[in-house]
Amino acid sequence: MQIKNPATLSIIEDVATDDAASVANKYARARKAQPAWANTPLERRVAALRAFRDAIAKERDTLALTLTREMGKPVAQAKNELNALAGRLDFFLENTAKVLTPEVVLEERDGASAKLVESIVFEPLGVVANISAWNYPWFVGSNVFVPALLTGNTVLYKPSEHATLTGLAIERLLHQSGVPSDAFIAVVGAGDVGAALLAQPVNGVFFTGSYRTGKKIAEQVASRFVRVGLELGGKDPTYVCEDVDVRKAAESLADGAMYNTGQSCCSVERIYVHRAVASQFLKEFVDVVKSFTLGDPEDEKTYIGPLAREEQLAELELQVNDALQKGAKLLVGGKRIARPGYYFEPTVLTDVSDDMRLMREESFGPIIGIGVVDSDQEAIRRMNDTEYGLTAGVYSRDERRAEAILRELDAGSVYWNCCDRVSPRLPWTGRKHSGLGSTLSTHGIRSFVQPKAWHRRAP
Ligand code: NAD
Repeated sequence: MQIKNPATLSIIEDVATDDAASVANKYARARKAQPAWANTPLERRVAALRAFRDAIAKERDTLALTLTREMGKPVAQAKNELNALAGRLDFFLENTAKVLTPEVVLEERDGASAKLVESIVFEPLGVVANISAWNYPWFVGSNVFVPALLTGNTVLYKPSEHATLTGLAIERLLHQSGVPSDAFIAVVGAGDVGAALLAQPVNGVFFTGSYRTGKKIAEQVASRFVRVGLELGGKDPTYVCEDVDVRKAAESLADGAMYNTGQSCCSVERIYVHRAVASQFLKEFVDVVKSFTLGDPEDEKTYIGPLAREEQLAELELQVNDALQKGAKLLVGGKRIARPGYYFEPTVLTDVSDDMRLMREESFGPIIGIGVVDSDQEAIRRMNDTEYGLTAGVYSRDERRAEAILRELDAGSVYWNCCDRVSPRLPWTGRKHSGLGSTLSTHGIRSFVQPKAWHRRAP
């Protein structure tokens, strides 16, 4: 498989991919290694993952550059991802013991001795498949494989074909840090290799990617009754009330829409602004977007780089053209940039209606539709008018008003005066087409264990 730099279109590396036979072989190794890894004392598993965290910090600049070259993330943002990763890993390192502690739920005593004890013990699932996306490969990968390894599972990890070199670096660093070579194995290739991995009798499937692939995967494994976690796309809306500091809201939301060149699952994908401040908000928003530096992602000053995938250029064009045909107004951007690489202009459209592709389908690029609303009720109705349910937010000075709105929103995460934000302490969970299950938080650790009910009666 050829790894292509999306900024220059040059081939960076040729990597060998797996086939059905090598995937089966990797599965057999991971299966054989699992009991010993599960029986390794938790402190040793924690020590290995702590060494992994430290190794990443040491190699940060090289790892950031690898990511930038293979998927186009501006290098300053690649470093941000790696810096923030330490906090996520610390959360898992500090909280796994608590999650794994058996719970005694009943203890009937006869004097000093226990007559009947009921307890819940948490056991690993076994061998888990982790099929991952390219947009934040360090974050979305480690949301799965770190708690999976800490809780005693072995992992077959298929990085996205657009983040393979990062995936191989993850494998190398885990092995160097003391995770046995058969406890974590990278599986290399595109969707066909992912499908071959799912043909193996794994005990859990954890997928991050698009709704389309997620649905296919859920259908493929449904009859096997294995644990499935799906972290899928979004069409995340935000409502800007008329009482805000307009410039501050515009700065925050333009960043939420365009950071990582708009390729975040929780990017702001739709904005509804109250009519009373709409024209001022549009002016400020466009002003902020025009200030973004677009260019070579290897330049520290670059804020917008190329898209990771060529196909997305056509998708963005389709969304812009469809919106214009249906009456939207283009305020800035709107087309590909005539230079090598998959560059698309940061684009802002207004006078949008909710039947436009721009307002219904995930854009995954530096493009946003901004609609105008007359009331909180209208904003709530339009925000919820989507098949997705990952995040949603509101900007207002009034906390009670914001709370009343957030309670009505059908999304896994809600934000007041912030956006495009993920916390290791909170569950990351999508509703409707945005997914199934949770990662992060203690819920996200528990996703990788199964409870066993112990009934113990004294003879
Ligand atoms: P994608 O669905 O194209 O691919 C995801 C992974 O699935 C890749 O590794 C790919 O090789 C593999 N794959 C493709 N077909 C397969 C098949 N038939 N069987 C098994 N595996 C298969 O998604 P992508 O382009 O890599 O990622 C972008 C999407 O991911 C966006 O929709 C984004 O919103 C979503 N995402 C969600 C989250 C979240 O936490 N909710 C995080 C990051 C990305």
